[in-house]
Amino acid sequence: MMKDFECTQESYAREVLREKGLKSTTQRLAVVHVLHTSRKSLSVGEIHDGVKEMLGATGLATIYRTLEMFEDLGIVKRLHFPDGGRGYAFSQGEHVHHMVCVDCRGVFDFPECPVESFDYASVEKQGFRVKDHFVQLFGQCGKCAEAA
Ligand SMILES: [Zn+2]
Ligand SMILES: [Zn+2]
Repeated sequence: MMKDFECTQESYAREVLREKGLKSTTQRLAVVHVLHTSRKSLSVGEIHDGVKEMLGATGLATIYRTLEMFEDLGIVKRLHFPDGGRGYAFSQGEHVHHMVCVDCRGVFDFPECPVESFDYASVEKQGFRVKDHFVQLFGQCGKCAEAA
């Protein structure tokens, strides 16, 4: 059955789920575990493989549903790659933007929100109301740049 795992990330997810009246199922916690123990962003397939390794047979649809729910709850961040691929990374709901390495798919935080100093008045003049933003940098991490 389920391996004994519970770290701060799992506790955090458990808490968020509980607040929303959602169950911390073994599969859901396994998704959290697979994501936060990875140093890079993972594709849905990789998350699925990781969960199967922990729990045995698990449907891909369950993984998709879990990721969708986690994205809504801010437990995961969806990342985009220039080739159209997506990846997922664990998130503790904090306002953080990411740099992703297109070679190793490593995920790194950058410390400041570049949109904070954005001139909202200029877009609101056009009647547009900004609700949220998505900022992500693509590039090569230090290691990959050195190896190139
Ligand atoms: Zn890299
Ligand atoms: Zn921001």
